[in-house]
Order: sequence, then C-alpha cells, then structure tokens
Amino acid sequence: MIVLSKIAEVRNALRQVRRADKRIGFVPTMGYLHEGHLQLVKTAREQCDYVVMSIFVNPLQFGPNEDFQRYPRDLERDRRRAEAAGVDLLFAPAVEEMYPDKVLTRVTVAQVSEPLCGRTRPGHFDGVATVVTKLFQIVQPDAAFFGQKDAQQLAVIQQVVKDLSIPVEIVPCPTVREPDGLAMSSRNVYLSPEERTQATVLYRSLQLARRLLAAGERRASAIRAEMVRLIEAEPLARIEYVEVVHFPQLTEATTLAAGDQLLIAVAVRFGQTRLIDNLIIKLD
Ligand code: AMP
Repeated sequence: MIVLSKIAEVRNALRQVRRADKRIGFVPTMGYLHEGHLQLVKTAREQCDYVVMSIFVNPLQFGPNEDFQRYPRDLERDRRRAEAAGVDLLFAPAVEEMYPDKVLTRVTVAQVSEPLCGRTRPGHFDGVATVVTKLFQIVQPDAAFFGQKDAQQLAVIQQVVKDLSIPVEIVPCPTVREPDGLAMSSRNVYLSPEERTQATVLYRSLQLARRLLAAGERRASAIRAEMVRLIEAEPLARIEYVEVVHFPQLTEATTLAAGDQLLIAVAVRFGQTRLIDNLIIKLD
C-alpha cells in the first residue's frame, strides 16, 4: 500500500494505474477506521482492480459548535487496518493541502440536503458534497463506495453525480453493526458505558418500525409515535428527529402505500454524542 498526502502525487500514481486499464474503486472516509469502513473496502476489492481510500476530517462539513477538533484520529492504526483490508493507495492530506486558501466554492444540493440532518446541521451537506466532488476530481474513480448508515449523504452524493454528470458509479453498501445492533461509528468511542448500553435503542426503534409495517400499519404518524415512545424510555436519550420519508427523494411520507421505498431515520443525542441510524424498506 502506498500512503500519499499530496494531491499531485495521487494524480501521478493514478495516471499509471489508469493507463493499465484498471478499474479504480474509491472509499472516502474521515478515518478512525472500523468494520463498517473495512466492509466498503471489501466490496470495492470485489468490484475493482485498484482501491483508493481517503482519510480526511473535512472542516467544511462541521458546524462551529460541532466536534471537528475532538473528532477521533489515529493515522498509524488506520494505516495498518487499511493495508490489511487490501487498500492499494491511502490518501491522507492535511487540511492545508485540501484547502490552502479560503474556499469560495460550494456544491449545494437543494431539497435532499434540507430535511433530517440538514435541519440541525446547516451547511453540513454542502460541506460533504463539496469535499466529495473535490475528491472525485483528484481520484477520478470508476466507482465509489458509500455506507447506507449515512443514507441522506448517499442521496445527496447520488444527486450531485447525476446533476453534474460525474462519471462515477455510486455503490451503496449495507450498514455494519455491533452484535447488539448498534451501527458502527467512529463517534461510538465518545459514549460512556451507560450511554453505550442505552444507545441500542436506535436499532431497537427501527426493528419496532419494521414489525409495525409487517403487521400492516400504514400511518407514518403511528409508527413515529411508537418509536418515540420506545426511545424516550431510555433516560439518557434526547431525540433530535424520528422521520419516515420517501427514499431517495426524502420527501415526507404520511400514508404509506405498496411500492413505496421508505427511509425510516432517527437521530438521538446521548450527552454530547449524536448518533444516527436508519432503515430503508420497500413496501410490497
Ligand atoms: P465516515 O468516516 O464516518 O465519514 O464514513 C465513511 C464512509 O463509511 C461513509 O460512506 C459511511 O457511510 C461509511 N460508514 C460509516 N459507518 C458505517 C457502518 N456502520 N456501516 C457501513 N458503512 C459505514
């Protein structure tokens, strides 16, 4: 595995790879790698000849009161994990390399950026769309791999690629979970033991929604109400949102009908830590 920190070096290295007609797969991350990230690499390995991973904690996507400074970082550990998972090129630039001057350009996606996390994290998805577009310009991958765990991010990126005709295939990958159902996240390390125990309620609330749908419930409001009740039973949980929307449009769903593809999404705070999870489900 080669490790590079400069944009020009990455372009040079990949020019050779492209000349050999290899299919390039790309896995963008913010590092502090866990099994969720490594599954993206595994899928990329299966579908591509050459796998590039980026590790970059992108300041553009953090709000002024968010956790940019304290976001967990461990490049040496990440380097070992990425290599063991089969990454060929690891791109880990400094902020100064990606943004040497004030960035005046933003990629803004209307509508899909607005509900759910967009409401409480203004500017977040502009930051994501901008850095991913920039990384696509640097790596020029044939395919890029994103986790369904961040379903709204996936919808935003799919919209960018479509609207700007970026020649990359976006491959969604299923959410990887801990044995008790908690979605893996670099932010899980922030949780106290008590919070960690109660955090399984996100997954449990999604399972509850799945059971209600299977039992024939078709009122989104009733599903939301049951989920809220379950989550509120955990004393440390503070709900940010519980939503039922159409996927990938992210428009509100009220009465659910056969053929609907739904995103049931939750965001819950435990102390300073904000956790998200979701279920994408197609109704028969
Ligand atoms: P992050 O480092 O959190 O920005 O995530 C980088 C990529 O890994 C994104 O495409 C995420 O959706 C994906 N990812 C993060 N956590 C998981 C997970 N538990 N399962 C699957 N993919 C994940």
